[in-house]
Amino acid sequence: MSLIEQTVKSLFLSELVKGMGITFRQMFSPSVTVNYPYERGPISARFRGEHALRRYPNGEERCIACKLCEAICPAQAITIEAEPRSDGSRRTTRYDLDMSKCIYCGFCQEACPVDAIVEGPNYEFSTETREELLYNKQKLLDNGERWESEIAANIASEAPYR
Ligand code: SF4
Ligand code: SF4
Repeated sequence: MSLIEQTVKSLFLSELVKGMGITFRQMFSPSVTVNYPYERGPISARFRGEHALRRYPNGEERCIACKLCEAICPAQAITIEAEPRSDGSRRTTRYDLDMSKCIYCGFCQEACPVDAIVEGPNYEFSTETREELLYNKQKLLDNGERWESEIAANIASEAPYR
């Protein structure tokens, strides 16, 4: 066997041993993958997922129909109509959000003075039709009810940084 062949062979063997060493080390280290959807990894409190409209603990809608979210939305995904109630308060009569336009920038949430419209932690809302992505006020309020505890905890944990 020539000197070149011997050198190549020893290099190959040393790389093989190194590779096997890495493989065995990884076999006994903690797994970095999760068995989604049966397991889920943690998500940030700043995660910008599916939108929701929140209520106060007494059931009253937070939204005061100021339309700041509608004005700031760069995708023009939000459409609001509003009118005064008999008690003088102003509330939306229509709050539509076209999720197929939304770019998840979070500006609506940042603009809202009463933390009414938020991007919640839900990321599992894919649909089969575009129409299902046209959210109305009731759908957004339902999302708010469903995710309120997680949303409130995320907002509280982020408060010191805002
Ligand atoms: S996240 Fe951005 S694009 Fe989506 S509705 Fe809010 S402001 Fe508009
Ligand atoms: S969700 Fe917030 S920003 Fe949008 S109209 Fe209501 S109160 Fe104003």
